[in-house]
Amino acid sequence: MSPRKSKLRVDLVIPVYNEQGVVEQTYEDVRKVIDALPYKFTIYYVDDGSEDGTVESLNALARRDKRVVVLELSRNFGHQAALTAGLDAAQGDFVISMDADGQHPPSLIPQMIDLFLQGYDVVQAQRVEAGGTSFKRLTSAAFYRIINAISGTQMVPGAADFRGLSRQAVDALKSMPEYHRFLRGMVSAMGYKSVILPYHETGRVGGRSKYSLGKMVRLAMDAIFSFSLVPLYIGMSAGVIFLCLAALEMVYVYSFWLKGDTVSLAPGWSSLMFVILIASGVILIVLGFIGVYIGYIFQQVKQRPVYHLKKRAE
Ligand code: UDP
Ligand code: MG
Repeated sequence: MSPRKSKLRVDLVIPVYNEQGVVEQTYEDVRKVIDALPYKFTIYYVDDGSEDGTVESLNALARRDKRVVVLELSRNFGHQAALTAGLDAAQGDFVISMDADGQHPPSLIPQMIDLFLQGYDVVQAQRVEAGGTSFKRLTSAAFYRIINAISGTQMVPGAADFRGLSRQAVDALKSMPEYHRFLRGMVSAMGYKSVILPYHETGRVGGRSKYSLGKMVRLAMDAIFSFSLVPLYIGMSAGVIFLCLAALEMVYVYSFWLKGDTVSLAPGWSSLMFVILIASGVILIVLGFIGVYIGYIFQQVKQRPVYHLKKRAE
């Protein structure tokens, strides 16, 4: 090992929510891996408002191991917020985020660090075969298909929040102050030199998934509404469709006039139909315009930086 390498500071950021029965074992698994590596490690456990004895277990780890730092949040803010808290606290040159439940194999850590040393800023682990339920697998596949179809930011299917970020990438991520955070998308959006590292997901060491259906839906909504304006354009497209229907109706009614067969038309039908179609079309188009303006305002209030500086030469 070169002396330069051994100065490398590597941080692990691990969000934890009600994982009392699990943290002890996953810590041991992580410890075995990092003890064999010549770098300076710090493990940031972020307790996301656990209601069981998780904090006590984490504090016990911190007393035993100097490298462990426990960050306690005031309540349950959710996985993405907990990750953000950990990334904000991390000081290392390379910061790896992973789950506390053992589904993200620590055996990947040395490989991630090697890729970082080869010059990659973002080392993204990709789940090649989900260990979760088939419901989760199906909804995840559908989600990535939709988000990649309607968003300008391409996201890697099966990319969990298991990734390593260089100091520069962490700082870039920290400069995105948006409230609704979908870190996978934000990491894709910020760019930098990335590499994908496939892995086989293992089952949970214990406990149940802390991602309830509600939390999954909220995460998907954060992703869709933060990374796509397509839903806003739906109103406008619907408006155009209604106007086309109005035009078709006009032609249809006119054809009866041409044939001199106006008696077959129910009285009042043509005018009523026409007014309904035109009015709906106009209302929807105007709604669509308003939607576009809201979209622009929305993007502005997010105050995302317009660019991230990669290098400066003087
Ligand atoms: N987690 C968290 N806050 C939450 C939900 C989950 O910090 O509100 C943590 C959880 O303890 C775990 C990681 O985020 O370390 C991933 O959650 P989980 O394993 O439940 O998700 P799944 O793997 O089922 O998608
Ligand atoms: Mg899990």
